[in-house]
Amino acid sequence: MILRVENLSVSYYMEYGKIEAVKNVTFDLEKGEILSIIGESGSGKSTLAKAILRAIRYPGKIEEGSKIFFNGTDILSMKESDFKREILWKRISYVPQSSQNSLNNTMRVIDHFYDTAVSHGVNDKEEVKRTAKELLKMVRLDPDRVGKAYPFQLSGGMKQRVIIALSLLLNPELIIMDEAVSSLDVATQRYILEIIKDINKKTGVSIIFITHDISIAAFISSRIIVMYAGEIMEEGKTEEVIKNPLHPYTAGLINSVPSINSNVSQIKPIKEGYASIEGCPFNNRCEKAMEICKLSEPPIYNVNNRKVRCFLYGDNKA
Ligand code: SF4
Ligand code: MG
Repeated sequence: MILRVENLSVSYYMEYGKIEAVKNVTFDLEKGEILSIIGESGSGKSTLAKAILRAIRYPGKIEEGSKIFFNGTDILSMKESDFKREILWKRISYVPQSSQNSLNNTMRVIDHFYDTAVSHGVNDKEEVKRTAKELLKMVRLDPDRVGKAYPFQLSGGMKQRVIIALSLLLNPELIIMDEAVSSLDVATQRYILEIIKDINKKTGVSIIFITHDISIAAFISSRIIVMYAGEIMEEGKTEEVIKNPLHPYTAGLINSVPSINSNVSQIKPIKEGYASIEGCPFNNRCEKAMEICKLSEPPIYNVNNRKVRCFLYGDNKA
């Protein structure tokens, strides 16, 4: 196991009150695994990513009792300077949301690699150049041409591949990718997802892949966590979750996506609505809601190697 997130809660303390963006989230990530975290915007998935990167800033706060073990060490209890020096980018790197804009248009691509290396204490320019070329090749870019280019000369898909290559520069054990292909057209998405899978196979790097698109999660990952209103609703092997979603929210996500649900006449969006504060957070959007769903919050039930937070699977129901 490379990562264990335990009872992670993150809140934003706003003037008008507290927003619980992530609530008591617990999960493990195995070495070499690609795990997708999926949910609509506001489900807490980006906050979860930021917490692992220790990038939660005021008015956000990681609550007492939260733990994130990376190779057995609780990185939340490390000094921030130690985390930045020893872990960030070198052992846990990331591809941020809308990352294509994170490249500097006045710097050649290769200089981004030098810059990243130097700012993490790696100063051997020749070595960085060699590694950068290898990585650009790995993301199927021409290392010489693209290395010399400026970001504005590249397409969105090429820039995204540069960012992925950069995230690999210091040979991390874990990469967190937040909506890494969301801004791209479908054909480019597919191509880049193939590249990411390939990198995972070749290097064994573990990946947490955050997306709002369940068809992307289905394609890239071996396991899926479905989040809603800051909580885990369902967790299981990708194949099983897609074939037989247990949680009504997961089922809704699958039924609203044409590429998974091949029967177009059955495509059906999830009923609109806000997360409920009382009871099950999904109760005002759920077609299967029962009386109890409005009164109390369901716990997580274990059902055939699956975790599901829904009263339909309680002892007296399933
Ligand atoms: Fe629907 Fe109730 Fe299950 Fe929530 S607990 S998902 S409201 S059936
Ligand atoms: Mg987000």
